[in-house]
Order: sequence, then C-alpha cells, then structure tokens
Amino acid sequence: MRDKVTGARRWVVKIGSALLTADGKGLDRAAMDTWVKQMVALRQAGAELVLVSSGAVAAGMNRLGWAERPKAMHELQAAAAVGQMSLIRAWESSFAEHGLQTAQILVTHDDLSDRKRYLNARTTLRTLVDLGVIPVINENDTVVTDEIRFGDNDTLAALVANLVEADLLVILTDRDGMFDADPRHNPDAKLIYEARADDPQLDAVAGGSAGALGRGGMQTKLRAARVAARSGAYTVIVGGRIESVLDRLKTGERLGTLLSPEQSRHAARKQWLAGHLQMRGTLTLDAGAVRALRDGHKSLLPVGVKAASGNFRRGEMVVCVDPQGEEVARGLVNYSAAETQKIIGHPTTDIEELLGYIDGPELIHRDNLILV
Ligand code: GLU
Repeated sequence: MRDKVTGARRWVVKIGSALLTADGKGLDRAAMDTWVKQMVALRQAGAELVLVSSGAVAAGMNRLGWAERPKAMHELQAAAAVGQMSLIRAWESSFAEHGLQTAQILVTHDDLSDRKRYLNARTTLRTLVDLGVIPVINENDTVVTDEIRFGDNDTLAALVANLVEADLLVILTDRDGMFDADPRHNPDAKLIYEARADDPQLDAVAGGSAGALGRGGMQTKLRAARVAARSGAYTVIVGGRIESVLDRLKTGERLGTLLSPEQSRHAARKQWLAGHLQMRGTLTLDAGAVRALRDGHKSLLPVGVKAASGNFRRGEMVVCVDPQGEEVARGLVNYSAAETQKIIGHPTTDIEELLGYIDGPELIHRDNLILV
C-alpha cells in the first residue's frame, strides 16, 4: 500500500503546534528548516505541495511572554494573531532560502463548506500551486475557534485535502503514529502500519471520545483521516521528528500509520458531485463541446455553449445537455446565470471585456465536472 505514498502527486502536509515550538520557547526554526528542505525536495521530485501549519497560538504566547496557555478564548485568539506573524515570516524566509515563494491563506471550516467560497479558495490555491508558490494555511483564529478548541488544525488540513483533491495528507505529529494501545502506559504497544480509515476498531485505539482527548489528539487525527478519505485521499500520521521523515515516506519506507480511503478519488468525487447538490440550471452545448468533454476530458468553455437556462449562482450545480437535450455531464459552474448569458458563444479571451472581470477561463473546470 505504500505505493500510494510514493506515487502521490498532490500532498497536503500538516505540522502541529507541539512540533513547531521548541518546548514553548517559540518557533523551532532549525526543525522548520529541515522540513522545508524536505518539502523542497518533494517539489523537485514533481510533487505539488500545500502546507497547513499550526503554531500561531504557541508562537504568540512566546512573543507576549506568556508562560501558560490562557484559558480565555479571546486571549488565545489574540495570541494567534500575534503568533501568525512570526509563523508566516519563519516559513517565508526558510522557503526563500531555496528560492521558493510562499503565500499566507487563513480560512475557516465554513469557508470550505460554502460553495462559492470553496470555489474561490480552490481556484486561488490551484493558481498558487501552478505558479510554484507554497501555500501556507492556518485557521483564521480571529473569527473562528474550531481548531483552537479541538483540532490543532487536523480537521482543517483534511478539509484542505478535500479542497485541493490531494492524493495524500501527511499529519506530522509528536508521536510516531497510531498504536494499538497507549505507548505511554503499555510497553507492548505496537504501531499500526496500515489500516482502512473507516475501520471501527481504530476508534478504541485512538482513545475513545474526542472530548476526552481535547485538542489535536489521535482521535482528531483519525477523524481528519476519515474526512480526507471522503475525497479519496490517503492519510499518513507520522512522527515529525523522525529524521528525514518526508524524504523517507517518499521512498516508500513504512513509517507512521497509513490510513486508506474506502473508494478512489474519482469515485469519491463522482459521489460528492452526484449526491449532495441540487441542479440549478441547464447549459446546452454544441457538438464540438460535447466531444471535447466526452473524448478529450476537457473543461467546458463558454464558446461551446449555445444556451443557458435557470437561475444559478457561481459554484452551483448545472446540467450540461447535447443539442438534442440528452444529458452529457454535470458540474459546478464558475459564473452566475446572468454572467453566463453574456459570455456563452464567446471565446475565453473575450470574458474580461464582456464582464469587466474574469472568474476563471472556463465555464466549468474539468475537475468540477462529471460525465454521465
Ligand atoms: N490554529 C491554531 C494555531 O495555529 C491552532 C493551535 C492551537 O490551538 O494551539 O495556533
């Protein structure tokens, strides 16, 4: 099963607060540099990479001279706002030493479930990755507190894996992986190398209810793996202090716990698109566009659309039919009904002139399209 790791093209790497801070003494810059070196090597080997970094609260506490983690949420949020500055600066300068640009992205769980924002975030991330920039993502801790309360960004990282349709989510943590018993109390505890993310036996070994474990425990990591599995991603939970951990994962070494999804990425996407959304409109394609979609697996461009009906908004689901009215595909549309009316039949190069702006060169991106 480790071929799923070696063959993964799109990686989301999540690094937790415990790893990022040197015993509460602020950010562990030396450790960050070693992960950056490995991430750069991954990039050079052809992988696409998105980094989800915690550590804002921890770094902020250090900056503010707070020895103990405050209980009050607003103080934690304040610490996160201070610490995010150090965090992003540290990542930026470390990647810059290798000639790579970074981008800061602060999101919330809600951003990733709202369809319009989802599409915006997805397009921005794809653009950054295509530009060779490393996106560094954290929760927007000023406006929400999901990850401060429970997750240390575990769930956020899984939602990002869904968003970018990652092949692999790597959760770097201060434990070596998931064990079949608690290694702190049981010397015979064995590392689980591989399992299915949906295996109910894992709940017991991950430590029962999430509430008992609090922020960022194994239970939230297991839950994150299950969320990632929804879009067909594999998850590795692995010790971030293991020497050259990312390099060694890439070469297929059996480090950490690999959790597999129950279905392929393609099947997962198809199910997600088919099951969860209502059809808001219909696009009638010309014969050339039908061929481009069916045979070429291309995106749908405005030029190939003859008519549009319905009252849909950006990010909503529409049906694509051929000139005879037979359904060809379904997908998430990049433009509202009113915008679509203005641009159909026109080449992509005209969109900006017709609308005054451009929300993407295609009407439906092929990743957001399923053929029926
Ligand atoms: N997003 C938060 C951070 O980056 C979560 C971690 C925490 O609660 O300490 O700091």
